[in-house]
Amino acid sequence: MVSAGLVPSANDVLVIGGGPAGLAAALAARQIGFDVVLADRAQPPIDKACGEGLMPDALDALRPIGVDLGSGHGSPFGGIRFLDEKLEAEASFPCGSFGLGVRRTELHRILVSRAQDVGVVALWGKKIEGIDPTGVVIDGRTIRSRWIIGADGFHSRVRQWAGLAPPVWNGVRRIGLRQHYRIRPWTDFVEVYWRKDCQAYVTPIGANEVCVAMVSTKERGASDLTDMFPALANQLSGAESVGPTRGAISMSAKLRSVISGRVALVGDASGSVDAVSGEGLGLAFRQANCLATALAAGDLERYDTSHRRMGRMPRLMARILLLLDGNDRLRRMAFRKLAAHPRIFSSLLAVHVGVLRRSELATGVQLSPRSRADVDKREASRLPQIDCPEIP
Ligand SMILES: Cc1cc2nc3c(=O)[nH]c(=O)nc-3n(C[C@H](O)[C@H](O)[C@H](O)COP(=O)(O)OP(=O)(O)OC[C@H]3O[C@@H](n4cnc5c(N)ncnc54)[C@H](O)[C@@H]3O)c2cc1C
Repeated sequence: MVSAGLVPSANDVLVIGGGPAGLAAALAARQIGFDVVLADRAQPPIDKACGEGLMPDALDALRPIGVDLGSGHGSPFGGIRFLDEKLEAEASFPCGSFGLGVRRTELHRILVSRAQDVGVVALWGKKIEGIDPTGVVIDGRTIRSRWIIGADGFHSRVRQWAGLAPPVWNGVRRIGLRQHYRIRPWTDFVEVYWRKDCQAYVTPIGANEVCVAMVSTKERGASDLTDMFPALANQLSGAESVGPTRGAISMSAKLRSVISGRVALVGDASGSVDAVSGEGLGLAFRQANCLATALAAGDLERYDTSHRRMGRMPRLMARILLLLDGNDRLRRMAFRKLAAHPRIFSSLLAVHVGVLRRSELATGVQLSPRSRADVDKREASRLPQIDCPEIP
């Protein structure tokens, strides 16, 4: 930790918010050679309600900023399983790739330690009070900065200060509750238990621990788990709950623009995707990498364009999945299809994690090992032709 007195009087980049998005943005900017200061009102390690699953493409997006979450962290998972009262369908990630379940505080610790190693100046326990034409205001004084990155989460104030907040939000607001349980994971898949208007996501996060996040349009308590998801409650029976229950809002929300003057938004501050997509963190890490490239070029417009493109697929997937959330009949039909044709589920998952393009879905292209970065690069070069519906 560094005291405000030691902060350089003028910086290249000041990051407001030291959650995963802010830390990734700070690391990416530092990697390019910028002097970076990051401030967060909380003290590390910072916890937050989350399903705690990093999809394979999220792990890929961490590598360029020097964070390789291989063995020794969390618990790998090989795919996704959907379950409702009667049906089960599952798909493995393509090309033998895997995701990682990792406690939010552990992920935070890893990112903070990397930031410290590469020379990001971190101000913990410092609330940013505003931005002005030369920098940001902390403790009543301005710290000058050439660029300001707003990474202050779903309820972002920076978004408001920069005039980027929409007058009203259109998306469906859902409430997420997270609880950890001490139990040996019974599967190496992330399980998603479905009921009308509610899911429970179960992520293995250690040899002896799982994370359960229940997300619903209605306010629910952890005790509702037994009534809503008896099969899951049965799996968890006798398991001790560990640590506090945490809650957070989950919602797909899109901004018209994520840049204004010297300010750029990243992570949930820049618009979020519903938890059902499992892509919030991966998206934030990819945004961080793109933002650093745009800063190096001194061209934030470039980031605005990439940001729009990157959010399309996760938002579309979230929208489709939320149709299943609200309609029992539709969900059963879809689950029956996915269970009977596992290749369809595998291909959809491959599109979701960026290994297969949507246009290749119909042609039944064989999956070959390639990364989301390859697909992103190719899609960027054909940007004007991409036919993606705008999500309201
Ligand atoms: C129930 C639930 C389950 C989810 N499951 C998954 C999942 O399994 N996988 C996945 O990839 N994503 C998941 N997500 C999404 C993911 O959690 C978010 O996308 C991610 O937390 C966004 O990170 P962030 O850094 O943008 O925001 P945050 O983590 O909210 O960080 C914002 C930071 O800004 C700080 N801050 C705010 N205001 C100020 C200020 N004025 N001054 C200084 N600091 C400030 C806060 O203290 C905080 O540390 C889930 C979300 C929910 C709600």
